[in-house]
Amino acid sequence: MGNDNANKKKKICILGSTGSIGVQALQVIEEHADMLEAYVLTANSQADLLIEQARRFQPAAVVIADESKYAYVSEALANEPVQVYAGAEALCQVVQMEPVDMVLTALVGFAGLRPTLSAVEAGKPIALANKETLVVAGELVTEKCLEKGVPMFPVDSEHSAIFQCLVGEVSPVEKLILTASGGPFRSFTMEQMKDVTPAMALKHPNWEMGAKITIDSASMMNKGFEVIEARWLFDVTPDQIQVVVHPQSVVHSAVQFQDGAVKAQLGCPDMRVPIQLAFTYPYRVYSDFPRMDWWQMGDLTFEAPDMKRFRCLQLAYDVMRTGGTAPCVLNAANEVVNLAFRRGQCGFLQMADVIEETLQRMPLTVSPTLEDYLQCDAESRRMAASILGIS
Ligand code: NAD
Ligand code: MG
Repeated sequence: MGNDNANKKKKICILGSTGSIGVQALQVIEEHADMLEAYVLTANSQADLLIEQARRFQPAAVVIADESKYAYVSEALANEPVQVYAGAEALCQVVQMEPVDMVLTALVGFAGLRPTLSAVEAGKPIALANKETLVVAGELVTEKCLEKGVPMFPVDSEHSAIFQCLVGEVSPVEKLILTASGGPFRSFTMEQMKDVTPAMALKHPNWEMGAKITIDSASMMNKGFEVIEARWLFDVTPDQIQVVVHPQSVVHSAVQFQDGAVKAQLGCPDMRVPIQLAFTYPYRVYSDFPRMDWWQMGDLTFEAPDMKRFRCLQLAYDVMRTGGTAPCVLNAANEVVNLAFRRGQCGFLQMADVIEETLQRMPLTVSPTLEDYLQCDAESRRMAASILGIS
């Protein structure tokens, strides 16, 4: 009986268990230990946290992507029943382990592409947090999902909201309404934005997230990425996606239908809700996450995004329309400037300049293969770094 129950638990492989999403996913798993199990945990270089998580959750395997930390991790876990692997290639292998029922892609950046494809190849359902994968290679990834019959459950709060609005609908949608908080510089002038520091950008008004996505939120590149993510997840055209700035982040996103009706999903800003739903769908499971307080919430406001001040959002719409490798170039250049900004090597507004110039200089491949994407990513990074003068 006990064994039967253990076998019925959904075994989850978390790529990026030491990050903001990964840690919250483990909270959800711990809360629902009767249904969910952390089967594989992976980290880039945070060895100590990975070791601590492995001791606590007793996964079948862990991967430390940074190979120089392999000996440290495997020694620390020598007395635990946990297989220890290292390197990027191992990420592509663990997602395919036979007992894995679902892969949560909670690692950041382009590094998510190959393991995600590998999981889809093996028929593993995906809980998708790593939006960069769909930004870079949305066409390739969604085609592969279709071919393999693999579902992709969105973890991004906006996309989870849209997914929830679509449950039970059989008619085509008219429009997706993607809400955006506008980030910490929503009401800054261009002049003020010139001088913002990493510390200022790292203070997001509504969400606690990893450093990279927090900077992307401040520049609104994150919203641009989410537009592209929505295009692939929900199979709509670029013109069917409208960004609406909603500073309170209570309306998580909405869908407009052909009769003019709009359905929205609302809630407190808490990523554990979409993470949990991706794990337990089609069921909603009781959790004591904070409830909405209608009397305390105050006004909900909505405004148009300013694509002149937030040029990254415009660039994302542009590359989505261009297609091919253009979104891959956008993502790669953004990863370079995002890190450079955090290190004080690039100004806040300069990020969009460098991305735009990289886009202008890089050749376009119209129907890229995985190999093309890998090359384009590497080449775009070199290009962006040299434009920035840090190569
Ligand atoms: P984070 O920086 O907090 O964590 C990233 C995780 O990925 C860590 O576990 C890290 O060890 C791992 N990682 C980083 N680089 C890696 C590499 N090269 N190889 C293997 N592993 C690597 O990031 P986060 O905020 O948790 O975001 C993770 C993903 O989820 C991102 O794609 C982000 O856009 C998306 N997302 C995050 C939030 C949020 O609230 N944090 C919301 C929506 C979407
Ligand atoms: Mg989001």
